[in-house]
Parts: sequence; C-alpha cells; structure tokens
Amino acid sequence: MNAKPRHAPMNQFPIVDGELVIGGKPVTQLAAELGQTPLYAYDRAVIDARIARLRTALPTTVKLHYAIKANPLPALVQHMAGRVDGLDVASEGELAVALASGMPPQEISFAGPAKRKPELEAALRAGVLLNVESFREVELLATLSQRLGLPARVAVRVNPDFELKSSGMKMGGGPKPFGVDAEDVPRLLARIGELGLAFEGFHLFAGSQNLRAAAIVEAQQMSYALALRLAAHTPAPVRTLNLGGGFGIPYFPGDTPLDLAPIAANLAQLTEQARSELPQAELVIELGRYLVGEAGVYVCRIIDRKVSRGQVFLVCDGGLHHHLAASGNFGQVIRKNYPVIIGNKAAPVETETASVVGPLCTPLDILAERMELAVAEAGDLVVVYQSGAYGFTASPRAFLGHPDALEVLL
Ligand SMILES: *Cc1c(COP(=O)(O)O)cnc(C)c1O
Repeated sequence: MNAKPRHAPMNQFPIVDGELVIGGKPVTQLAAELGQTPLYAYDRAVIDARIARLRTALPTTVKLHYAIKANPLPALVQHMAGRVDGLDVASEGELAVALASGMPPQEISFAGPAKRKPELEAALRAGVLLNVESFREVELLATLSQRLGLPARVAVRVNPDFELKSSGMKMGGGPKPFGVDAEDVPRLLARIGELGLAFEGFHLFAGSQNLRAAAIVEAQQMSYALALRLAAHTPAPVRTLNLGGGFGIPYFPGDTPLDLAPIAANLAQLTEQARSELPQAELVIELGRYLVGEAGVYVCRIIDRKVSRGQVFLVCDGGLHHHLAASGNFGQVIRKNYPVIIGNKAAPVETETASVVGPLCTPLDILAERMELAVAEAGDLVVVYQSGAYGFTASPRAFLGHPDALEVLL
C-alpha cells in the first residue's frame, strides 16, 4: 500500500509554547491585539527570505517582477517595491497601487485582455509599459498617444504556440483570450511600426502554479526561441523579454516545493544566448504567488464544535467568503485540503479527525475536510497556511453579508 500523501512541511513560521508565531507574534496575541478574527496576516521577513533565496539562485542580470494581482495590499506592494525590479499590473486600480508604491513608472508593466480607453489613457499618462494584447489596443493606443502627445511604450503579449505542461492554470497555447496568437504577431509588429509606437519587447506567460522545474525550464526555452523568431519582425530592437513565471508553491498533500536550481541554470544559459542573439534585451521573470503565497496565513476562530453522526465539525467565523481558494472553489477540479492547523495548539498532544467549516449556508463552505487536527473547541484559532496570494481579493467577500476579514502586514 502506498503511504498517504502528506502536506509539505510548513516551517516558515516558528512554533513557540504551542503557538504559531507570525511576524514575531503568537497567533492568540495577534488576534487579541487586532481585536477581531477572521484575519489575514503577512510576514515581511518570510517574503524577504524568499526574495533573497531567488536573488542568490538567479543570474544577477535577470530582472525580478512582482505580479501584484497575487496580493495587491498597498502596504505589501510598497514593501515589494523596494525589493523587486518591477511591478506588473492588470487594471487601472492595480496601476494606482503600483504608482503609489514608489516603483518608478518605467519599471511598471500593464497587461490584461480588456483594456478600456480610460485605462490606456491612465497608462500613457503614467508612462508605464503596455503589454498589448490585441490589434484593437494598438490602434486605440496610437490615437490616444497622438491626442495626448505622449509616447506609447509597448510590448507585445504573445499567445505562444505551446502550453506550460502540468500547470495549475493554463494561460497560453491553443485558443486563448490572452495575448496575440504567435502566428499573427508579425502583422501586429508591422502595424506597431507603421503607427510609430515605441516598441520595447515581448511578454510571454504560459501558465501558473507549476511545481515541476523541468516543465518551467521547457516553457522558458520555448518562449525564448519564439521571441527570437519574432525578433526578426520587430520595428525596433527587443529591449525587454518577459518570460513569465509560473513558479508554484506546495498547497496540497503530495505537493513538493519547486526545485529552483534547474530553472536558475536555464536562465543563466538563456542570458548567455541573449547576449549575442538579442544583445539589447533584458530578461524578466514575473512572479506572484511564489513571492508572497507562503508568507501569509488566514486565521479564523472556532465558534462552535459539533458532532454530527460521529463526525466532528469545527464551525468558524471565517470561510469561503474570505478564502475561496482554500475552500476548493478557485480552479480546483477535485477538492483538496490546504495545510491547516489549530494555531494555538500547534504542538498538539491530542489529535482527532475533524472538518473545518465556515458560517455560510452552503456545503461548499469548507476549509478542511476530515483532517488530522489538534482536538479543538470554541475559541480556538484555525490557521490556513499558504494564504498570502489569491486570498482576500480573490474571494466573494460580499456573499452572505458576514463581516470582512482584516489584513495586516507584520
Ligand atoms: C497571474 C499572472 C501572474 C502571476 O502568477 P502567479 O501564479 O501568481 O505567479 C504573472 N503574470 C501574468 C501575466 C499573470 O496573469
């Protein structure tokens, strides 16, 4: 018989006297000081350690961008702005957060499949790089740029002719609403040249949440090769080549952390190739969850403990409405448990099998299904690990009208 798959060890936060410690604070103290649950807490030191590890592994010439949709909390984005080389945004709202963070506009890029006129105008006024995703966008940008008397800095987002293998969410390859199909890009480049837009490079993003280094390496190699082919058609030299990201983090039983070494070695190799083949190009990778996902927890309080026909249910003040992903309803096909513990009984003496559910009147509101947890009661604190990305802002917080969660950067 195979051993039951387990969660990867979660050791980003210490456990002191049986309590999980986040940003130097035991979880009970944290909840008491903030005066409420549920809450999201993000630990700067864990983010910094992750960035430091990446910087050590990657060639120094590769630029590291933060895709702020993973976690757009202004204080967190501001923290990132001092530590990464650029920010990637996908709406006017995110653009405002990025501009307020102190990151220079030259280092901000704006992607997204439905950019409206006011968004394009805001981007032109700010002077950020626009990752154009359609012929319509290019025409509209030319008109706006002329009217405003401002240059339009553009990179072409390419929908590649391959997919990122074993990726959690595929965002490139085959028919996709993102980017311009690789085969149509030469025609778009010609148009960009005719209209006199300031062409700067390419953006390729094959997919997200990949834990297989070999698949990421292959996608980066194919992205590079595709960009090199397309470079024959550009109206100006390629100065930026954004190879995407897709670096995953372990969420579910059986997931193992991504091995950075082969990815770093491949990027060093590509940097070397680019030196002669695309001599003006800077290589960029853009990461969201890999930078911030492991640095965050979601904390909610047990309101009731019920036993229904032999099964234990820990009923909490938080759930799906704050943390859609942990409930299994954000891109999962088969529901699996996030790593969950009882945060104030983190070194448990006695455990039992229990399910953690939220306050919503729907059977979808599950944070943990039949997990081995410390024996818990009303008042104890449930902690969901791996909650620093796609949590608060990726959840239907108005659903059922319960109080919102608090967010804190420690
Ligand atoms: C969502 C997104 C990212 C970030 O993905 P992660 O899985 O959080 O790293 C990066 N680039 C683009 C274009 C995206 O849409």
